[in-house]
Amino acid sequence: MVLPILTYPNPILRNPTEPVKFPLSKEIQKLTKDMIDTVRKADGIGLAAPQVGKSVKVIIIDLEKNGIPLFPLYNAKITSKGFKKLEIEEGCLSIPGIFGMVKRPKKVTVGAQNMQGKVIRFSDEGWISRVAQHEIDHINGRLIIDLIKKYTKGEEIVKGWKKQGVV
Ligand SMILES: [Zn+2]
Repeated sequence: MVLPILTYPNPILRNPTEPVKFPLSKEIQKLTKDMIDTVRKADGIGLAAPQVGKSVKVIIIDLEKNGIPLFPLYNAKITSKGFKKLEIEEGCLSIPGIFGMVKRPKKVTVGAQNMQGKVIRFSDEGWISRVAQHEIDHINGRLIIDLIKKYTKGEEIVKGWKKQGVV
């Protein structure tokens, strides 16, 4: 089932998230399926649970177009970051019309659990690294507008929010 994607400044996007417990509840299994349907429908490359209104630590990484099978991660966190940084243009399904350059570590190590609850750890310095960092930011209430210093699109919209005191 495709879920509506919340857009900024919906306060749920800033809420703290609860860790996921294992074995996965029916509710989290259903949420995972729905998030997969939603990210595919939206033509996104990743989605985090707060974007569909659920304050839990579930993210989906969907790089199927890059030949990487879609996968969900639970309780994901960055466990280490490389020294080298890359500045790449990013957008967000929850902040439509806004794009800008975001500087992030090129390489990160991610610690998480898979659907079976198995603890996994992997390092990446390509698209998975970038998307994982963006989605892990979401489950920590952090958005690209907190990181963009140079906008490529929609700067006037963000300026309007800032004038209204929207965070
Ligand atoms: Zn996003």
